[in-house]
Formats: sequence, structure tokens, C-alpha cells
Amino acid sequence: MFLAGLGRSGSTLLERLVGQLDGVQTLGETVHMWARCIRDNERCGCGNAFRDCEFWPQVGTTAFGGWDRVDVDRVEALRASVDRMRHVPATIRGRSAELDEYTGYYSKLYAASHEVSGARWLVDSSKHPSMAHCLRREPGVDLSVIQVVRHPAAVAHSWTKLVQRPDVTDGSGSEDFMTRYSPARSAALWNGENAASGLLKRLGVPLLRIRYEDLVADPGTTMRAVTRFMNLPDSTPLPLDGSTAHLAATHTASGNPMRFTTGDISIRADEKWRTELPSKDRRLVHALTWPLARAYGYKG
Ligand SMILES: [Zn+2]
Repeated sequence: MFLAGLGRSGSTLLERLVGQLDGVQTLGETVHMWARCIRDNERCGCGNAFRDCEFWPQVGTTAFGGWDRVDVDRVEALRASVDRMRHVPATIRGRSAELDEYTGYYSKLYAASHEVSGARWLVDSSKHPSMAHCLRREPGVDLSVIQVVRHPAAVAHSWTKLVQRPDVTDGSGSEDFMTRYSPARSAALWNGENAASGLLKRLGVPLLRIRYEDLVADPGTTMRAVTRFMNLPDSTPLPLDGSTAHLAATHTASGNPMRFTTGDISIRADEKWRTELPSKDRRLVHALTWPLARAYGYKG
């Protein structure tokens, strides 16, 4: 199961909830695992450094004979060659040797994660739809997608905030803060990433679209739609008590800082953007995104 969508759309909350279900193993944003975890030894969602986690070293040994056997620079070079928004049209047209080599790494990663965890579903929250388009081409991957969307102005507001990354383990990383985008930039990305996600459905990939606003308004109903989409029995316990979620640590490699949160959390809508995002920015985001936003049921 690939969680697709533009960052800051609430996919981490969904990932955390799905990750608590029986038979599900969440992997985090594996697209960033190669550099941030294998090379830089950032923290797993369980709190341990990647190399000290109880899950990931087993996966590395099973998949590649050890993480030190993985050529991280090669994976990153392949990613730059095939896994970008501008390469999606080529990926739709057909496979290539580089694409096969790139998705081969993920095929091995998923097979090993399946073997080590015994889980029925693996959830990869890498989010970039370009990666889902690549994985669609990989014979070793049986792909389904959940697309998470959120009001474009709320997403734009979130991208303007300065957020420190708690992932680094030695304080010397080049990525100590999360990326920031201007409202115009995030609006353009909102259009492109969501359109590319929707395209997957037209190409025959099973896809469920979830609005973040619906998830936080009624987590139980949305999560039951998710379990049905995943063909899990309706008796599958949800990690919810009304709007309170019970979160245990999971082995996620890279992602939003919320992946480290454990215990009971109260799920509620973050509406700060309504007052904090300047009205000129709101008008700009609206002008750039309204056709698709309206198709998703967003107004005003
Ligand atoms: Zn771990």
C-alpha cells in the first residue's frame, strides 16, 4: 500500500493509524531511507538509530546481505534518472533498464520486509506519486494506493512554517530543518502531485482517496473505509476511542516528526491556517488550485 499525496496533507496521521492494524507493517518514507538511514543512520520510528533498530538490520541482511552492500549513491542516481515528476510520462509509456534497476531495489526491500515482519500488508508512505508510477511497472510489487488530500491553503500554510527535524542522531546533518515552500510553490506542487496520483487510478491501480478533513472529523468511519479497501475484516480492531488514537511505536524509516509520537493523542482539525495564512496568499492559492480543489469537494 503506497500512501500518495503532497507532504503536509496529513498522511503521517493516516500512516500511524493504519500502522496499528493487525497484519500491517508500516515502513515509513522509504524513498528517503537510502541516504538518511542507510548512509546517515537517522532514527527509526521506534526511537532507535537505524542500525540499532530490531527490525531494519534484519531486513537489510535478508534483502541485500547487509545494508553495507547497498550502493546508496547508485540508488540516488537512479532516482534522479527515473523517479521525478517530469519522468512520469516516460514511465507511463514503458519500462527501461534504469527503471527496472531502480524498482528492483524496492522489490527486494518489500520482499524482505514481508519475510521479516510476516505482515499481510506493507505500507510505504513515500508520498511522491512519481514513485508510485515507477512501482506500478515493477512485476515484484502488487501495488495499491491511498491518496491523502487536504485543503490547498492549509497545506500552503504548513509549508511556510519552520520545523526542526528530530530524526538526526548526531546533530551534524545537512537536513536539520524541514523544507519550506512559498504558497505559490506549494500550490503548484499540490496541483501536480494530486493530478499525478489521480492518474494512477485511470491506469488501473486500485486507489482510495481520503480527505484529511474527513479523517479528523470522523476517524472511525474513514478508517473503516480504509480497512475495507485493504480487504481486512470489519472486525479488525481500530486504534481509536472516538477521536482519541492509541499509538504504539512502529518501525518507520524517515518521515514527518509525528512518527515518533506514542501513547494517546487527540485527533482534531488544525485550523490555524484560516487565521494565520495571509489573505493575499489564500487568494493566490485559490486562484492556482481551484479546479482540482473543487473536484475534491473543497469550497472557497
Ligand atoms: Zn525500529
